[in-house]
Amino acid sequence: MRVLRIAIPTPLRRVFDYLPPKGSENRELMPGIRVRVPFGRREVVGILLEVGTNSQLPTHKLKFASIIIDDKPLLPKALFSLVLWAAEYYVHPIGEVLSSSLPKLLRLGGAATLKQQLGWRLTAAGKAVEITKLARAPRQFNALRVLREHPQGVNSHDLKVANVAIPVMRVLVQKAWVEQFTIKSDYQDAQVATLVKPSELILNTEQQSVVAKVSAELSHFQTWLLHGVTGSGKTEIYLQVIAKVLQQGKQALVLVPEIALTPQTVARFQERFTVPIVVFHSRLTDRERLQGWLQAKTGQARIVIGTRSAVFTPLLTPGVIIIDEEHDLSFKQQSGFRYCARDLAVARARLENIPIMLGSATPSLESLYNVKRKRYQLLRLHKRAGKAIKPTFHVVDIRKQQLQHGLSEHLIAMMKNHLSRDGQILLFINRRGFAPVLFCHACGWVAECKRCDAKLTLHFEPHELRCHHCGNRQVVTRECLACNAQQVMPLGFGTERLQQAITTIFPNIKVARIDRDSTMRKGAMQKLLTDIHAGKHQILIGTQMLAKGHHFPKVTLVAVLYADGGLLSADFRGTERFAQLLLQVAGRAGRAEQPGEVLIQTHHPQHPLLQHLLADGYLSFADTVLAERQQAQFPPYHYLALIRVEALNQQQPLAFLQQTRSIADTMHSGDVKILGPVPAPMERLAGRYRAQLLLQASNRRRLQNMLQPLAVRLEQLKQSRQVRWSIDVDPLEMV
Ligand code: ADP
Ligand code: ZN
Ligand code: ZN
Repeated sequence: MRVLRIAIPTPLRRVFDYLPPKGSENRELMPGIRVRVPFGRREVVGILLEVGTNSQLPTHKLKFASIIIDDKPLLPKALFSLVLWAAEYYVHPIGEVLSSSLPKLLRLGGAATLKQQLGWRLTAAGKAVEITKLARAPRQFNALRVLREHPQGVNSHDLKVANVAIPVMRVLVQKAWVEQFTIKSDYQDAQVATLVKPSELILNTEQQSVVAKVSAELSHFQTWLLHGVTGSGKTEIYLQVIAKVLQQGKQALVLVPEIALTPQTVARFQERFTVPIVVFHSRLTDRERLQGWLQAKTGQARIVIGTRSAVFTPLLTPGVIIIDEEHDLSFKQQSGFRYCARDLAVARARLENIPIMLGSATPSLESLYNVKRKRYQLLRLHKRAGKAIKPTFHVVDIRKQQLQHGLSEHLIAMMKNHLSRDGQILLFINRRGFAPVLFCHACGWVAECKRCDAKLTLHFEPHELRCHHCGNRQVVTRECLACNAQQVMPLGFGTERLQQAITTIFPNIKVARIDRDSTMRKGAMQKLLTDIHAGKHQILIGTQMLAKGHHFPKVTLVAVLYADGGLLSADFRGTERFAQLLLQVAGRAGRAEQPGEVLIQTHHPQHPLLQHLLADGYLSFADTVLAERQQAQFPPYHYLALIRVEALNQQQPLAFLQQTRSIADTMHSGDVKILGPVPAPMERLAGRYRAQLLLQASNRRRLQNMLQPLAVRLEQLKQSRQVRWSIDVDPLEMV
């Protein structure tokens, strides 16, 4: 008897047994294929994990699978193992993990075959047509002209660009002047060498030595950590390493933070390589996403660029993985299947036996620790590439200073100076909206969200109060809701208020604001960036959206308006984050030939970590913070798992975690510390109460060994149906 063990996308932590569909007795069934099965009252698409010979269920209770969808496994072997391993490691239901690693159309059972791309080209008759005789048919004239310019043929994209409508092509096909043909992926036919345009840049000696080291070890697994300040030429190194990999006939996978997947980034790859590149960004349709996925899997796409989930893209001939800004938080998925794409990418590189390169100006402490443990190899770029030089830092003590709309006199003077020399200025403030607080001067009342333990942010355009945690919106009252006094006023600065203030201080200067609100409309970000590059705005105000991935050659002054929030953060990762953000923002200054200046406004100018960071640089700063982490038994020295619970009722989450704790107490050997349960830092969010339990261990294995059985026990608890609970392995945020 053959029994199919199928992973089904449900929150249940188990696999389900089915019999092969009738009539499939002689068919070979390989793990990794999709199978449609009846599940409850529905039919669902599951993935075959294993073919067994028996089941714990009596045979008459086993249902038949309905349809075998695939002949061959969807995922290549190494990737399939990675996904199975990830489900174990992150203690997440295997069915959900598998299905979330697939494009939606495949998840729903769609065909995994690449749509043929058709092109048009001239026939002999078409070539012979005297084009001038077509003066009365201007659209046909135009189409023939375009085709003559492209003797190898054009595709529908080319036609769109050339403004030729498809119906015109149909007419020409009828006249037998034009024929359709199937476009083969061009890389197979062409010489790869011609697909890589030679770089005009001459690598500096540091870059050369990095490229040489990595190129010498392209044939096996190795993790490189490339540390170099912003503008030191890391991207140039990725491009040159990728060129080598392409020349060996292999593919490259490039992961970038969400925020950095800009047309600018993509353009840099497209300018250098003419190989087919697939880009996974959030605006793709399901169909486009599937096409890209299949092009990668069949080897037609030679370079894949994408954000976190692209780590699951199958590759026919994987050659290298590159992760830019490896410290970035967006590599971690914060809901559902809570994986870290950087860590999975390293695991994948090991399984595929290929090199992986993590790059950053401010590497995560986890990666630096892995360098200390000799798991990763550190590569360093000390200088900025090309002509750009390092910016100068100024720390401005704003204690007891009279600030003009949040700007110190020192800053205003420097702004005037840079403006007079035609420099662009970037003001960084990590709060969008008009003001973070709306309060009553008469009684002290503060506008708060009804559904969260949080204050509402005042927005100017549109004029409303908004909760940045749950999205709740409320009208702005002029009267205090507590005492009815008409003395309600904004407190503090957000990007909108700063923009207004700047316009009063510098009336003739054009100011651009870049935050989530100003870039929400499709194409808005692109337009802002184009205008900034064209020099239409002299002052840029932005949140951390501006800090990464963008290249602003004209910016010469960067100012951080409030550095204190980051310095005084309660989270144990707060100082690491602050240093990363500060250096990333600072990295926007003086990227071209103009020298840059960075000004930091703070109430704590003597803060030892700030001083240390500016005096000795990031790696030395990181050493100090690592030592603190070791002392405090925090990651990366110790391992954490956070169990989060939420419910509408305030008591339930804590009660559920108390039970969790009792179960865990009976299971662990004493090496795993159990802390809590405690209410979450923001206990109420979107109307639900939240609590958490922290598990901490010096040994990863011991923690792992405990989590899987614990999860199974929790699932069996009756109360688990009254609350939402989740396990976060290696949590990055403790909220
Ligand atoms: P990073 O990725 O570290 O921020 P980039 O690779 O983007 O650095 O390089 C920063 C700028 O310096 C880019 O404009 C790039 O074209 C240029 N650049 C990089 N390497 C060189 C080089 N060897 N010579 C001249 N310019 C370079
Ligand atoms: Zn009041
Ligand atoms: Zn809210």
